[in-house]
Amino acid sequence: MEEKRKTSFWHAMSVFVSFLRPYKIRFAIITVSVIGAEILGSLFVPQILRQIVDLFAYAYSSAAGTKAIGLFGLLAFITISYWLLYRVAGFLQGGVQAGVSRDAMTDSLSHTLKHSYRFFQDQFTGSMMRRIQRLSESIERIMEWFLWTIVPLFVSTIGIGVIVWRESWVLGVGMVVWMLIYVLSNYGIAIWKLKYDLDRSEKNTVQNGVMSDILSNTSTVKAFAREGFEKKLFFKAAEEWREARMKTWLIGETNNAIQYIFIIFLEVGIVFYAIKRWEVGLLTVGTFAMYQLYIRSITQNVYGMGRLIRSFFEAIADAKEMIDVIEMPVEVPDLPEARPIAVKGAIIDFQDVGFQYGGGSMILKSFSLSIASHEKIALVGSSGAGKSTVTKLLFRFYDVTRGAIHIDGKNIAKVTQKSLREAMSIVPQEPILFHRSLRDNIAYGKTNASEKDIIAAAKKAHCHEFISKLPKGYDTFVGERGVKLSGGERQRVAIARAILKNAPILVLDEATSSLDSESESLIQDALRELMKEKTVIVIAHRLSTIMQMDRIIVMEKGKVVDQGTHDQLLKKVGIYKKLWNIQAGGFKDV
Ligand code: ADP
Repeated sequence: MEEKRKTSFWHAMSVFVSFLRPYKIRFAIITVSVIGAEILGSLFVPQILRQIVDLFAYAYSSAAGTKAIGLFGLLAFITISYWLLYRVAGFLQGGVQAGVSRDAMTDSLSHTLKHSYRFFQDQFTGSMMRRIQRLSESIERIMEWFLWTIVPLFVSTIGIGVIVWRESWVLGVGMVVWMLIYVLSNYGIAIWKLKYDLDRSEKNTVQNGVMSDILSNTSTVKAFAREGFEKKLFFKAAEEWREARMKTWLIGETNNAIQYIFIIFLEVGIVFYAIKRWEVGLLTVGTFAMYQLYIRSITQNVYGMGRLIRSFFEAIADAKEMIDVIEMPVEVPDLPEARPIAVKGAIIDFQDVGFQYGGGSMILKSFSLSIASHEKIALVGSSGAGKSTVTKLLFRFYDVTRGAIHIDGKNIAKVTQKSLREAMSIVPQEPILFHRSLRDNIAYGKTNASEKDIIAAAKKAHCHEFISKLPKGYDTFVGERGVKLSGGERQRVAIARAILKNAPILVLDEATSSLDSESESLIQDALRELMKEKTVIVIAHRLSTIMQMDRIIVMEKGKVVDQGTHDQLLKKVGIYKKLWNIQAGGFKDV
């Protein structure tokens, strides 16, 4: 189960920095360019203009004219340099941002995939996708925020502070005090508002989860004519998101209003100060113009500050959800000393296994079963007896609660999961395919397979017949989850995949739904091919499969209650016979 973790602000920042590390040189060049451009644009330009205005304030003289031309030349040089520095920053930033975004998405996905089977059962695909996207968007936003807001703000306020201080310490102190109050009040409001931002983010995730759940169940929605019901359900989630957004929006707007009042105070203060200086003849026209430019520069930089601090924290809040997933301990980890397992005989031994799903009741109780090399066993039993659970434990999708599972004498909890799963193939009950070509879907079991191998496997699984009739053959895309194929075809693709993988252990969860007799016989034929020289566990529903098995294991309430061949078991008065009598009518090919 997903435990709630708290990612601290600094931790989130350190994750951001780690994504930026590969781009540090380019990032440093961008930062230096922005600093340089701001020093020139925000600090020097008003100084030069002050001198030009002061020159213009007096009558023309040739000396003043020469000086003015020199100053204009300097101004042109600064303007071009400013333009150049910002272009360098802009061009480099594109590359860094695109790279960081690619890395963040790939890393997030790869970390997500490390999580356990249970983790994905508790997650909505849509929510997970949004989380991954949000992390990458957040990093981009924070990078932009830092480069285009924080750096210019720092350079201009510190620079202007120093310049103004040198002109008049009263004005300098006034400005520093104003800045402190302004920044601190904005910061305080933003921090206070953070909880609302987090809430808004969570509501958005929930809303996306609901939408994705509905969209992945469209056929059920249609079959039950529940469009209206789903609309209401989604509206509820969307409404909660709207409320959360409204709250954060209102707080943000109030903050903006307060900021503007601060700015008015600054303007009035400066004008008042200028008048005082003018009264005593200490103010030149150029100096007044310079003050106005500085005020403009500062207010431009700080006006959006509340919004920016807010969007900064929003970005952090957005990113946190994904960072939590990245940092959450993996539920089924490889032990530090885990070694790869090389499965040869494929002897499987369940030793007194007990298992419960996340604190619930014991699903398997003292489950013991030894399967010899290349033995083929069928698991049968009523629904809920624990048959699928046994196969999931063999794949180590979950760790056993008690006991152990050995393959070739090695405890599967002590080997690497990759090597364990490489030694097994699965043909699930309802195979789901990737929206990729049929070739890629079959080759999934062996990614370096040649075209010849793929076709050979497809022929053995009786896929080649239907694939070669498709206009695009093996290049046909199968639709999301494989919807463009029939159930029987999907199953045969899954069988071809397993044939190609050729792993020593095969787990087959037979489809319960009945297939037409042609598909049925094709599948049985494909399975016969697939099961050759493998240790096989089948969750069996069909007599035709059961008849091919060496041994039938009858399960009830998480235990082995009987075993033997079909004929042996039928002779006894037991659960098998009872199950058989209930199900026999369903089998077409007895
Ligand atoms: P079978 O394959 O024999 O029908 P399962 O192994 O699927 O039985 O299920 C055995 C029991 O475990 C059932 O009672 C089922 O409700 C429960 N179960 C299965 N999967 C989960 C899960 N992910 N979380 C909690 N309980 C589960």
